[in-house]
Amino acid sequence: MPDPDWYTSGLPHIWLPYSQMKIAPPPLAACSTQGSQIELEDGRTLTDGVAAWWTACHGYNHPHIRACAEQQLARMPHVMFGGMVHEPALRLASRLTALLPGDLDHVFYTDSGSVAVEVALKMAIQYRINRGETGRTRLLSFKGGYHGDTLATMAICDPEEGMHHLFAGVMPSQYVVDLPRDASSIAAFEAFLATHADTITAIVVEPLIQGAGGMLFHSPDVLRTLRRAADKYGLLLILDEIFTGFGRTGSMFACDQADIVPDIITLSKALTGGTVALAATVARRHIYETFLSDNPEHALMHGPTFMANPFACACANASLDLFENEPRLEQVAALETALREQLEPCRKLPGVRDVRVMGATGVVEMEKIDDPATLRTRFIAEGAWIRPFRNIVYLTPAFTITNDELRRLTDAIHRVLSA
Ligand SMILES: *Cc1c(COP(=O)(O)O)cnc(C)c1O
Repeated sequence: MPDPDWYTSGLPHIWLPYSQMKIAPPPLAACSTQGSQIELEDGRTLTDGVAAWWTACHGYNHPHIRACAEQQLARMPHVMFGGMVHEPALRLASRLTALLPGDLDHVFYTDSGSVAVEVALKMAIQYRINRGETGRTRLLSFKGGYHGDTLATMAICDPEEGMHHLFAGVMPSQYVVDLPRDASSIAAFEAFLATHADTITAIVVEPLIQGAGGMLFHSPDVLRTLRRAADKYGLLLILDEIFTGFGRTGSMFACDQADIVPDIITLSKALTGGTVALAATVARRHIYETFLSDNPEHALMHGPTFMANPFACACANASLDLFENEPRLEQVAALETALREQLEPCRKLPGVRDVRVMGATGVVEMEKIDDPATLRTRFIAEGAWIRPFRNIVYLTPAFTITNDELRRLTDAIHRVLSA
């Protein structure tokens, strides 16, 4: 079937993400989605193992989200959030703060994950300024971490993955250290803080799973260690739950498993159930209170044009309805069992270094993957939308994926890695 007009005439004008455009294979043309299926213009259908970059937790086109979205679209797609508020945003703020632990009570909306992290960093820096503390402007983050693609967030990503060398001198320089996960790394972490803590405002970490850095897992103990260290040295703890939030690790939020309360949390990816961009930075009361003052300079100076977009907030409310009315976390628990069973046989395949599963995230780590693009093409030939990167092949399916669909994905992984 020939490519449609819009494809041939439009593609030369498109710049794709993370792609060397000179050699990147031509992208697939998607035309519609349903549940865990993506239909292509050429009539093929792929089973989605990625859930649209970890967002579509209820599957595509869920009728409840669609109904709420259509209603909101008819009533008020957008209105500015400066000096004006609306029901979808306020309802969502009440619901998010009720779901989040402790006194994480103050929601600042943005429109992408990277910007939600930027806002968290600005909050953490201005928190010191507003308290009259000087010299505590730096951030501490971890190797293997990923927090976004903007300049400030790149600076707290893994130095190699974030390609810090390319932007050296332009990006702020931050501390990126090993996660304190065993006796020696805990000792190194403690020693680091003993000398540098008084220059640092906050620790930033993806809790339980470092996603884009390679789906690296750590235990809830690591988060408790970080919370204790933050308390000991007077640092803020920022949890970036953009990947882990909304059930992906098995609990509604990853921090629930460690039973800790961060000072600031960032949410995005699955917030609207994969429907439309929206993000939130939620702060505890003690952070918010340092911004309350008679001094106008103590206000949080940030305000994206489309912040709290009513359409996006309505989709997020609809997504939360589904977490309340459908057995999502039970589905995640069942997925965890199924992923374990079905991916475990890969462990015996040549070149496989590790197989690990947490919640609705299944990972087959290889010694190395020479050519991820070829591997992707093989998965497509199997009818599977699976996107290997670095040295991993992973599944982050919709929580509503059927047993047959999951089986198709795990069979494809086994077949392709066996070949
Ligand atoms: C995806 C992601 C981000 C960035 O979100 P964008 O919406 O792509 O800007 C930040 N942090 C984590 C943990 C993520 O997974």
